Amino acid sequence: MTKYLVTIDGPAGAGKSTVSKNLAISLNYIYVDTGALYRGVAYYTILNNIDYTDTNNLKIQLDKMDLRFKNIDGDLKLFLNGSDISSKIRTPEISMQASKVASIELVRSYLLDLQHKLGVEKNAVFEGRDMGTTVFPNADVKFYLDSSTKERALRRFKELTDSNQTLEDVEQDIIDRDNNDKSRKISPLKQAEDAHFIDATHMNVDEVVNKMVGIVSNISS
Ligand code: C5P
Repeated sequence: MTKYLVTIDGPAGAGKSTVSKNLAISLNYIYVDTGALYRGVAYYTILNNIDYTDTNNLKIQLDKMDLRFKNIDGDLKLFLNGSDISSKIRTPEISMQASKVASIELVRSYLLDLQHKLGVEKNAVFEGRDMGTTVFPNADVKFYLDSSTKERALRRFKELTDSNQTLEDVEQDIIDRDNNDKSRKISPLKQAEDAHFIDATHMNVDEVVNKMVGIVSNISS
């Protein structure tokens, strides 16, 4: 049976995670949130006080890291050296650190291998920043999901449960993170030439997912 790989890239807060999860359920594919992997590395560097700019030490530390997803009751959980860290990686501090470690070549090559292994022989939806450009340039269907900065900030703000960030703080974080992600030398965030662009500013999750299902069905039928 042919296996299909779908990629969804886009900036922070564009709704990629919810859309990717729902698309994977609709298609009966697996779902891989690659941002969680960068967040896992960020968490590890903060927990162990690792200077990620010290390449020699970083290599040693990454070799000691076991980062993997486990499906627990249908939910994708991230495990670091045997502990479930899923509930610890969604803080503003980890978001910003993830964006910083994501510009380090060693981190990207380490996670590139991991992502390739996760994509082997599976029907999958991969979500991130460089899925369609670098990690899976031969993906069967690519999407680039975007929304206005204000809309993205508002969505992220509503998701925050235990933070004292204001809407303005969240918007500024998103702008800073987008700048980091778009301007880094290796694998910057950008739309792949053959990606379908979807502006979700005025669309709800179901509308975006339905549009994507229609496009994927066309190629796989
Ligand atoms: O998607 P999420 O907001 O969880 O990603 C956290 C950070 O990880 C992003 O700001 C980005 O810097 C980095 N990232 C990346 N490449 C990916 C996925 C995430 O650089 N494929």
